[in-house]
Amino acid sequence: MKLPDTIAMLRTLVAEPSTSSVSTSHDQSNLAVINHLANWLQGLKFVVDVLPISGKVGKANLIATLGAGEGGLVLSGHTDTVPCDEEYWGTDPYTLTEIGSVVHGLGTCDMKGFFPIALEAASLFHSQKLKKPLTILATSDEESSMAGARQLLRDGRPKADAAIIGEPTGLQPIIAHKGVLALSITVEGAGGHASNPKLGSNALDAMHAVIEDLLVYRRELAESHTNSNFEIEIPTLNLGCLHAGDSPNRICEKAELQIDLRLLPGMENKALVDTIQHRLIKTMATHGTRLSINQINDVPAYQTSGDGELARTLGTLSRRTLGTVAFGTEAPFLQSLGMETVIFGPGSIDQAHQPNEYLDLNELPLARETLEKVIRQYCC
Ligand SMILES: [Zn+2]
Repeated sequence: MKLPDTIAMLRTLVAEPSTSSVSTSHDQSNLAVINHLANWLQGLKFVVDVLPISGKVGKANLIATLGAGEGGLVLSGHTDTVPCDEEYWGTDPYTLTEIGSVVHGLGTCDMKGFFPIALEAASLFHSQKLKKPLTILATSDEESSMAGARQLLRDGRPKADAAIIGEPTGLQPIIAHKGVLALSITVEGAGGHASNPKLGSNALDAMHAVIEDLLVYRRELAESHTNSNFEIEIPTLNLGCLHAGDSPNRICEKAELQIDLRLLPGMENKALVDTIQHRLIKTMATHGTRLSINQINDVPAYQTSGDGELARTLGTLSRRTLGTVAFGTEAPFLQSLGMETVIFGPGSIDQAHQPNEYLDLNELPLARETLEKVIRQYCC
């Protein structure tokens, strides 16, 4: 089977809604996207495995391999998009629309646009006997729970020497990002008439102490950790939202605060949660309230050496300095599987997650050519 051209493949992928969201009303299956990729890759003689995500109906990862043996290269992308507000778009988000040198559509840059380029680069090798395998990896739920990447760790595959994740970096090789940790902190007290504080224990009073301590902790984190490779050089702690109580004349029974932390490479998400828990329990000891902490999001920080073979290769081929980004990716998960992992793809994160998302077609020839050269280096 002949591979359709870049635009035709991207049009087909964009036309399949594949939103992932922690809210069930927005969450959609990614199987239609996976099936198109599977068909095209089978046409290129790849051995294709569609691997369901446990506990998630209608979601799957795809691992497609050309050639056999150990090592080799993985080209990886996620199949899902964020939800979109159609009323703010100038074009139909599910109809690929060419305007000048760019194509608009949901997922064009983040990151359905990577797959046609990866497949085209791969197609140049489909009749060759590869020394080491070439794998195309397509994951689910990157934009929400990272369930696809977490499933890869449970499955223990794919394994290779190196992996490129084609997130939009404007073709700059990226070798580090911060970790993302979102926590819900709930304080429960006891209600009562506002006229007498002894009739209950006020959750908002306790939450006030919690917030005060978090701000002290934020300062301590900033003083003890910096990394000048990042635009924001310190770990951040953002107080995002607070919901509490129902009436001025009642002692507040319950308060929930949600916070977002961005950790530098070398900082462990779990250790931080333990520290916060420990501190806050101590802070609240005198308030007669209960504290619980839930993790809403947990993506580890990621960093790989700029001296690694893939990092050096991509630096040379792109003629760009190696960089860092502010967004989380599946890189720490692929790295845990033992692969040198670098993030490198067309498109700009500035156009992602917003109306009129687009991909600049001028970037595609260099992207394709770079992937072809890296495949040759690792697999031939
Ligand atoms: Zn993405």
